[in-house]
Amino acid sequence: MSDDPSRSLDAFASGKLASLEASALRRRLVETARGPQASAERGGRGLVSFSCNDYLGLSHDPRVVAAASEALARYGAGAGASRLVTGNAPPLVALEERLARHKGKEAALVFGSGYLANLGISPALVGADDLILIDDLGHSCLFAGARMSGARTLRFAHNDLDQLRSLLAEHRGAARRALILTERVFSMDGDRAPLPEILALAAEYDAWTLVDDAHGLGVVEAGARAPLEMGTLSKTLGSYGGYLCASQAVIDLLTSRARSFVYTTGLPPASAAAALAALAIVEAEPERAARPLALARRFTARLGLPDAESPIVPVLVGEAEAALALSAALEARGFLVVAIRPPTVAPGTARLRVAFSAAHDETQVDALAEALAESLAELRPSGSAGGSR
Ligand SMILES: *Cc1c(COP(=O)(O)O)cnc(C)c1O
Repeated sequence: MSDDPSRSLDAFASGKLASLEASALRRRLVETARGPQASAERGGRGLVSFSCNDYLGLSHDPRVVAAASEALARYGAGAGASRLVTGNAPPLVALEERLARHKGKEAALVFGSGYLANLGISPALVGADDLILIDDLGHSCLFAGARMSGARTLRFAHNDLDQLRSLLAEHRGAARRALILTERVFSMDGDRAPLPEILALAAEYDAWTLVDDAHGLGVVEAGARAPLEMGTLSKTLGSYGGYLCASQAVIDLLTSRARSFVYTTGLPPASAAAALAALAIVEAEPERAARPLALARRFTARLGLPDAESPIVPVLVGEAEAALALSAALEARGFLVVAIRPPTVAPGTARLRVAFSAAHDETQVDALAEALAESLAELRPSGSAGGSR
């Protein structure tokens, strides 16, 4: 008789956890009650959050909440089935029309989340005889979708147009179809892709381009549009869900073939109604959309960091442990700025990721800059290595 297998299972889990713990890479859930005006409560303490992706503060906007409540009362809590069965509730249809119009595309398809969208898109468009070229700093779900497609997948160094060109020159010929995956605003670095140049290369080599616009929509939008524009309803739109905007033919194909769309329950109608109300606010109040970037620039100027390119400002720390300590020092001063560690970012580049929102005011931003400078001085006695950017 062998041992109870659940014992070896638990031993495996405990061993893995111990090694994560030893390298300061274990992750823990912290109960957090988010409120309006970028507030958050942890362990009974009120904090100002600089870690939410709710860039326009719309998750608590009364108009967004009301739209969700109405849809909840009318259509119920859940979609009831896949969208291809009975889960295609009216708010989803209206949201798709509005998203397509917003992006200047013929059509849109709403998925259960941005992660699910990226798991479904690449495998429906490319396969074993094809090529995917992906920016090295692309989001985890872009890599996961690429892997599921079975296409040959090559990374190019972050925003490195020369390497992208040479990979296309070398490998495009052998591939039936080619797909380039990048982001408008990079989620952990806050910088932007050189999209006009990427689209020009794509045209030269007959490659398709997907732009993940998770952190661009509603805040950093101007500029070139790719044939495939995907994103999320869970950041600026303050709700939950994902989408792809593209031509009608592409959307029709994905509707039939994206497995993460076909074989999963539709998004709850209230989530779609919230996102739709949020998108209407984004379009009606452009002055609100300009605020997060303006606040980010105020912050980078105060700290002598390079000018922010988006509402996301990374403060590079280096080791995971140091990033956790800096985050704790800020929390003690009333600010919630969560540490980002490997494997979300490359080893040695643990950081604080500061995210600005239209819900912040200038006083809060200045206070954070001061608290950060103090905490850095406290944790990093003069002469020690490390730097922020
Ligand atoms: C957050 C994020 C996603 C995933 O979107 P969800 O709707 O949260 O699943 C995809 N890509 C990027 C770049 C993101 O930052």
